[in-house]
Amino acid sequence: MNLEENRPTWDEYFLMMAKLAATRSTCLAFPVGAVIVKDRQILATGYNGSPSGSVHCTAQGFCYPGLSSCDASKTLPSRAVHAEANAIAQAAKHGISTGGASIYVTLEPCIYCLKLVISAGIREVFYETVFNSGEKAELRDSFVSEGLVEFKQIQLSETMAKRAALLLMNPTSVPKDALTESFR
Ligand SMILES: [Zn+2]
Ligand SMILES: [Zn+2]
Repeated sequence: MNLEENRPTWDEYFLMMAKLAATRSTCLAFPVGAVIVKDRQILATGYNGSPSGSVHCTAQGFCYPGLSSCDASKTLPSRAVHAEANAIAQAAKHGISTGGASIYVTLEPCIYCLKLVISAGIREVFYETVFNSGEKAELRDSFVSEGLVEFKQIQLSETMAKRAALLLMNPTSVPKDALTESFR
């Protein structure tokens, strides 16, 4: 038996971190998480939500009181700062260079965040779910053609997701291998 198979790959590890960050989302359009990584070290994390210090959508009933969802209005602007933008802002706030870093996101960056990602010197985007289509996808592809950024879609294997869920749902550091036993 190869116990190494029980360990996540680096891509799976950072995607799981991004998924954990997404659990903190406060804007209810949908949860998104982001993790900025360089040399396998996490530099900053972010999730989508109203600007730091502003009332959460989760606290007042969506982006504006009275809406049926955060994205229900065609005219009212979203109050959310996107996960990637929040992660880059967190790095800026703490004086951490994002040059040459990678970003792991649960959703492909929107065009606005992608431009921010590129200008922040982040060169690789690992994402779980596709977002852009049509002309936005064409703009994304033009940035890729220019050599500014690379994209890779990644998924968490079912085996790894189940293992992580088991660790989340139980005391993790138990002095026996009951958790790994359940995978054999
Ligand atoms: Zn909202
Ligand atoms: Zn965005």
